[in-house]
Amino acid sequence: MREASYCGLGPQLFQSISPALCPQPRLLLWNEGVAASLGLQHLGQNENRDSASQIFAGQTALNAFSPLALAYAGHQFGHYNPSLGDGRAHLIAEITDNHNILRDVQLKGSGRTRYSRNGDGKCALKPALREYIMSEAMYGLGVPTTRTLAVVSTGEKVMRTGPEDGAIVTRVADSHLRFGTFQYVAALGDAELLTALLDYAIERHFPELATSEHKVADFLQAVMARQVETIIGWMRVGFIHGVMNTDNMTISGETIDYGPCAMMNAYDPQTVFSSIDTMGRYAFGNQGIIAQWNLARLAEALIPLYPTQQQGVDVLGPLISRFIKQFDAAFDQMMATKLGLSLEGADEDVRQAVKALIENLLNIMQAASLDYTQTFTQLADWLRERPTGKGPAIASEHVILPAALTEWSSRWLELIGDDRSTALAQMKANNPLVIPRNHQVEDVLEIAAQTGDLAPLRRLVTVVSSPYEWMPATADYQSPPAHGDAGYRTFCGT
Ligand code: AMP
Ligand code: MG
Repeated sequence: MREASYCGLGPQLFQSISPALCPQPRLLLWNEGVAASLGLQHLGQNENRDSASQIFAGQTALNAFSPLALAYAGHQFGHYNPSLGDGRAHLIAEITDNHNILRDVQLKGSGRTRYSRNGDGKCALKPALREYIMSEAMYGLGVPTTRTLAVVSTGEKVMRTGPEDGAIVTRVADSHLRFGTFQYVAALGDAELLTALLDYAIERHFPELATSEHKVADFLQAVMARQVETIIGWMRVGFIHGVMNTDNMTISGETIDYGPCAMMNAYDPQTVFSSIDTMGRYAFGNQGIIAQWNLARLAEALIPLYPTQQQGVDVLGPLISRFIKQFDAAFDQMMATKLGLSLEGADEDVRQAVKALIENLLNIMQAASLDYTQTFTQLADWLRERPTGKGPAIASEHVILPAALTEWSSRWLELIGDDRSTALAQMKANNPLVIPRNHQVEDVLEIAAQTGDLAPLRRLVTVVSSPYEWMPATADYQSPPAHGDAGYRTFCGT
């Protein structure tokens, strides 16, 4: 697919606008892996650091691309907002990567645009660094995500609750098409443009559908499948997105918008950290049902592509209704793999037994406030050390399970059977040893903001980028906060 493709959709979909002036940019973080995938590795070399600072502060063009701010609409906490758009972001390049996939390179915090409303178009340093940590962690965890190429400090202050250092984060995505992009075009009432947007999204993300006879329905189903994969990934590792508005849901399925996101420590499906989510709409355990709600809004935006509204509803409605069943099945299978089990191809009685086992475990974990990450790694350690053979679930030599799990574990052992090595391999692949724990993320951000020392942040990123591998520093990052995280709050303002 050719580069500079998005602007071909026409001027209603963007504003051509340069990033704001930034007199003193300084490159703070550079992601070598992402840079290499885009053929930009030379910009990380010492002699090119100044040019990289200029480019990723939006002061010099990248590949002669003219920067754009993209238009989109969206439902925010259930309420439709017809004009959102990039209020603090600029698309600065479309680059074909080393897998021959066209990728967007976007600055965030790079100044005001037509879509800024009352915002300053800027981004503070801490949230920019936080996006780097969280998106790299999610990539390491194997969850589809946008990634961070660079963080540049601007030398300016931005006003938040007080003055803070300013920064610009460079985000790389398979595209920045959102559910809200479709909502925006549907609201324009221009069916031709909506068709062009659908064809563009298909060409970028689902080229196999280009010749489909049921393009619209197939597209919706493909987007649904990506949502299932991504959000099941979130549920597997304890990620709470925090602001699942339709403008923050990508067509590609990549996790985007690392504003108020956080990780769950003690298991509780009601867990919410976002300061603005007072009703708990985007709580950990609601993420599946919210995905369905969001997909229904996307489906509504696709209805004008049918000859009549009724036809659209008749075709797309049943697909949306099926979502939760699809999601729940994927959830059960994911939880089964976390326990070294599988539902695929299992007999009905085994399926029921595994599902009951999962439900019981989650109930116990919630009642006993067990740590979501540690419980599964403890179970794996315990299984590894137990002598083989059937019998009561006695403690293994070194690992002691929480008392609440003793009775449950004997049923688990029965279902595991004799093939421990397959079960253990599956558990290792699905249960991270470390996640970016909220308190540790905050600690390294505080040090970076107060002293400019990025070494603790880099150490954290190194460990959480390989979360399934044991390394010497792993143990330093495994503990939940000593006193829980009851007062922990996150904020939107990147
Ligand atoms: P978000 O909560 O990050 O999904 O942002 C919602 C909308 O607010 C998007 O249209 C953003 O571009 C816009 N926005 C957020 N922060 C700012 C800011 N500091 N300046 C301008 N627009 C912003
Ligand atoms: Mg957003």
